Amino acid sequence: MKFRHFLKSFYKSKKSVIPVLALMIFSLIAITSVSAAVYFGSFKIADTTYNDPDTTAASTEMTAQVSETQVVSSEVSESSVDSSAIQAVALDALEEANAPPLEESSAPPLEVSSAPPLEVFPEGVKVCYLTFDDGPSSNSTPQILEILSRYNAKATFFVVGYGRLDYLQTIIQQGHTIGLHTDSHVYANIYSSDEAYYADLEAVSNKVFDATGVRSKIIRFPGGSSNRSSLTLGKCPGIMTRLTVDVEAKGYRYFDWNVSTGDADQTLAPVETILENVRRQSNGKSQICVLMHDTNAKTTSVEALPAVIEYLASQGFEFRALTMDSPVFHHERLNN
Ligand code: ZN
Repeated sequence: MKFRHFLKSFYKSKKSVIPVLALMIFSLIAITSVSAAVYFGSFKIADTTYNDPDTTAASTEMTAQVSETQVVSSEVSESSVDSSAIQAVALDALEEANAPPLEESSAPPLEVSSAPPLEVFPEGVKVCYLTFDDGPSSNSTPQILEILSRYNAKATFFVVGYGRLDYLQTIIQQGHTIGLHTDSHVYANIYSSDEAYYADLEAVSNKVFDATGVRSKIIRFPGGSSNRSSLTLGKCPGIMTRLTVDVEAKGYRYFDWNVSTGDADQTLAPVETILENVRRQSNGKSQICVLMHDTNAKTTSVEALPAVIEYLASQGFEFRALTMDSPVFHHERLNN
């Protein structure tokens, strides 16, 4: 009834003709625009989804590559750059095909931070991890390897970027492991900032990888985690407090020591001093990590090594190389 009333008043009132005509024209334009948008939009969707089977096939193939890449990316970190490129291409193809976005695929591969379970030894088993820092060196490393081989003892070398990296392959072939010490070992540089430390660590990591094909994730901080040099020389307050947490989150394992031979405490420590330190500090322990040095200058470290091994073997220790699942040896107190 209201509509009929409206029509009557419309025809009666000439004043209302102009605004009503304007309303009708506007409505016509609006309806035409919406129709055109719907028509062309449908055409585009039909074109990519149904009329182009090659695109659909490619997107399916790319989806498979994305899944495969995600699976292997956690195992082969070296291929992460290539994986990202594959993922980027795959995602482009998927988006072009108007497929639902894969949010998980768009994120870069996550760095593995979950640590494997630590090795647990049966009651009564005594394990010694001999570690040699600052090498490899021309004079000492071949002698150390010969002595270790003689006693069938495995050990770990925390190497520097300026060492004899051409020895690394031999070290690994003989069953020992390589740890990262740093590239430069210059306290004032490596401990000047968190970024400087990681840049230096990455440099030695790349050198070791180039020489061996092994991406080592076990590290030792120069001076150990309890060093004071990071404050006195690096002048970076709190850096060790941050790094000791941060390196583990990045998938590294850091190792300090609980037996120091003292061969770095003086220019040339007497053999007897080295032996006495080992006897005293290993006493009562069933798992020990022994700090020694592998440089041309540390001749008494090499001289003392047979006696060190013989003494520890007489105490029931077996000699193993550090790995990612070895028990951790961390200094309890950080000094910076
Ligand atoms: Zn060192």
